[in-house]
Amino acid sequence: MSENTKAVAKKQVKTKASTKKTTVKKRVAANYVYAFGKKTDGNATMRDLLGGKGANLAEMASIGLPVPPGFTISTEVCGYYYDNGRTYPASLSKSVLQAIKQIESQLGKSFGGRSNPLLVSVRSGARDSMPGMMDTILNLGLNDVTVEGLAEISGNPRFAWDCYRRFIQMYGDVVMGVQARSEEEEDPFHEILEKMKRKLKIEADSDLSTDNLKTLVHQYKALIRKRTRSAFPQDVFEQLWGATSAVFSSWRNDRAILYRQQYAIPAEWGTAVNIQAMVFGNAGDDSATGVAFTRDPANGEKVFYGEYLINAQGEDVVAGVRTPNAIAQLADELPQSYRDLEKVRNKLEKHFKDMQDFEFTIERGRLFILQTRNGKRTGLAAVRIAVEMQRERLMNQETALLKIPAESIDSLLVPVFDPKALKAAPVIGKGLPAGPGAATGRIAFTAATAEAETRKGNKVVLCRNETSPDDLKGMLHSQGILTSRGGVSSHAALVARQLGKVCICGASEVVINYEKKTLTAGKVVLKEGDYISIDGSTGLIYKGMIESADSEVKRVLEGGLKANKSYTYELFQTVMSWADKYRTLNVRTNADTPAMAKQAVAFGAEGIGLCRTEHMFFDGERIDIMRQMILAADEVQRRSALKKLLPFQKKDFVGLFKAMEGRPVTIRLLDPPLHEFLPHDDVVRRQLAEKLGVPFDFVIDRIKALHEENPMLGCRGCRLGIIYPEITEMQARALFEAAAQVSKGKKAIKIKAEIMIPLVGFRAELADQLEIVHRVAAEVMKKHKVKIDYLVGTMIEVPRAAITADEIAHEADFFSFGTNDLTQTTLGLSRDDMGLFYDQYQSKEIYNQNPFASLDQTGVGKLVELAVERGRQTKPNIKLGICGEHAGDPNSIDFCHRTGLNYVSCSPPRVPIARLAAAQARLRNK
Ligand code: ADP
Ligand code: MG
Ligand code: MG
Repeated sequence: MSENTKAVAKKQVKTKASTKKTTVKKRVAANYVYAFGKKTDGNATMRDLLGGKGANLAEMASIGLPVPPGFTISTEVCGYYYDNGRTYPASLSKSVLQAIKQIESQLGKSFGGRSNPLLVSVRSGARDSMPGMMDTILNLGLNDVTVEGLAEISGNPRFAWDCYRRFIQMYGDVVMGVQARSEEEEDPFHEILEKMKRKLKIEADSDLSTDNLKTLVHQYKALIRKRTRSAFPQDVFEQLWGATSAVFSSWRNDRAILYRQQYAIPAEWGTAVNIQAMVFGNAGDDSATGVAFTRDPANGEKVFYGEYLINAQGEDVVAGVRTPNAIAQLADELPQSYRDLEKVRNKLEKHFKDMQDFEFTIERGRLFILQTRNGKRTGLAAVRIAVEMQRERLMNQETALLKIPAESIDSLLVPVFDPKALKAAPVIGKGLPAGPGAATGRIAFTAATAEAETRKGNKVVLCRNETSPDDLKGMLHSQGILTSRGGVSSHAALVARQLGKVCICGASEVVINYEKKTLTAGKVVLKEGDYISIDGSTGLIYKGMIESADSEVKRVLEGGLKANKSYTYELFQTVMSWADKYRTLNVRTNADTPAMAKQAVAFGAEGIGLCRTEHMFFDGERIDIMRQMILAADEVQRRSALKKLLPFQKKDFVGLFKAMEGRPVTIRLLDPPLHEFLPHDDVVRRQLAEKLGVPFDFVIDRIKALHEENPMLGCRGCRLGIIYPEITEMQARALFEAAAQVSKGKKAIKIKAEIMIPLVGFRAELADQLEIVHRVAAEVMKKHKVKIDYLVGTMIEVPRAAITADEIAHEADFFSFGTNDLTQTTLGLSRDDMGLFYDQYQSKEIYNQNPFASLDQTGVGKLVELAVERGRQTKPNIKLGICGEHAGDPNSIDFCHRTGLNYVSCSPPRVPIARLAAAQARLRNK
């Protein structure tokens, strides 16, 4: 066995394991190549092997949609290509030849033949769509001979030469690497074209004559020869393999790599290559090409949405070179095609049961569909489409819930422009609303400037004539994107939808001059760095900065807007009520103040899972008393300071209990190292000494005495309450006194208090603190003659606690996983000190996610599982929750559901996301 065949064999074994049986059988028969057309080998479920585009082309062909015939070279070949020094499996060329023959016989054309030449497109297509990331080549099969044949058979020489010049341009760019050499330089082919148009005083490409196009072909070939020192190839099979290799190679170009990192797409997936008979949108005024969405992908409305160009080829629409017409206009221009298109729109939605983004071409009045996929949409659109499709019975509630990325609920809650400020702001232009939301920032004209300014801490709006995939990084760094050219399916709009960026595109009255670095709209001239504001929901562009205001949903929840006045609120409410119906995990919040608690309750929080009492000690005069307590030389002094703190703390608890109206409230006892409360600056230290009436040296000495080398692992958590029991005693007393107060009287609230002891690692630690809490509780209840419903539990945030959870559970009514500290202590890593190496760790894929943002399920998660299992061994009904920041992360929530926790507790703004994610976890793991 040669090295090569061994590698193939290995690859085949790997593929067998990861694909379904049927596909393997077919693969062996079809040998890396899958046809679609009269005979179709694949279907929509075969994305892994055929890529998304190939799988859906096959599916559409088999349900009778008009798809030009072709075939797909599978993603396995991409793997082979890279594993074998960019070469192909031996059998491939024969299979490709056969597949080409199949197309030839279906269409009665011949590839490379003069009389009726077959032209094909060579198209990339990964498992998940990566719009614009990889390359496509159209009109392949043209050369100096076949172009004449095409001219004759079509009776339209202009069209034939238009195809030829397009092909040479694409081939020269993608396969032969003739491209702009810097960001400032224009594309060299484009430059030649523009020069000619200027000379001829022509606006549109479609006004070029046959002779003009012939001259262009000549000039393009010369450009290629000059730049590459080789000729544009005349052999059609050389063209075919050149294009195929270029598509496979584009899987590893910089843009594609960046994109994959952004969306966590593994490099091993690879791309497929689709080779498909060309149909021609540039065959005259009864021909067109376009892109359409079955619904509006920006706001989700059920309207036919899209755009087209008469007498043009596919990339013209997407590249934003000519601003296309809105799809509705097609009803006037080509009424029959429009009706056909409407039928396709319906058929696609009924069949794929989701909003579709599809590409079409009309050749002399005949409609062809070239691609379909589930349309990328904004968060707002995701919600609206799911809700409305459920109402239309295209999907049930469960599917609808799973169709909404949990994070996208957030886009119903993001701030909008303040309505008052908006009225006063000067409108300077209007474009197509392509990404809803409000963005204010300084103008940046290049992606590089956008990135640099953002790194300096400035907010920017990226303003360009049009964007290209090379701008991706700059777009990521911007608050919003404004383009003067290109329609709703331009690159800018596409990326904005996917990244959830605010976007306005095709603002044709805005003139951007890169050289002068100015943006001109009517009489207004703005410079780079000036402020601009864009409203991606209305398409309006404003000069200057505009204040933002709460979202409609928030205004309804807070009583400032009537519920029936806001459709956004209706959507929010619908999704939330479905989520609540399906989820089993409870959702609580981490809140320290009544205001936070109220906000969380409005968002649906069912309790407080973590109230950090130390946050209550920083305000106003409290910090002084706190410092007095910390600096106390003995217990007597300490108790006297604590006595002064008690009323403050009690008042805070009263506020919280009232805000929560009887929902459970978990209060954690003092946790951070004490020195965090002390002043670092000598001036403040001196003032403190004066206030407390002690010598300055005394303050200094105490601070020194409290110094720790590694405070996060020092005297903190329950260790504080163990060495200073009077602190625990004060906090417990404040809590029970507050509980007693609100559980009496007319507006009595039934209290459910949960006292949480932090950083426990030994059963004895918890027992020690428990004794104090129970004693104080009994005293207070007796004094006020009330019964207070309370639990005492602990955080599980050091590995020892997780490992000995069975012992600790004897003392605890509940566990709450403090996964921030548990991650720090398990990884031996301080969250605040990962800056130096984090980027490298990520690019080496050692951490595939930030372990503090998404729970490290294989490591830290194992400890959680262990603690759950052991805790329940001892106490089957022990209550279990999580209060680390992971509790707001959908993936981590899925883990919490699977692990059998009772609740997650996240920050107030993430409560809606958590409710949805909890429902999805349940539905996904049914
Ligand atoms: P991308 O993945 O970047 O969207 P595609 O492979 O879909 O690239 O090709 C880009 C455009 O080229 C499509 O919009 C389509 O209109 C056009 N195109 C591709 N193949 C053909 C074909 N066989 N006939 C006519 N147009 C085509
Ligand atoms: Mg493309
Ligand atoms: Mg496409």
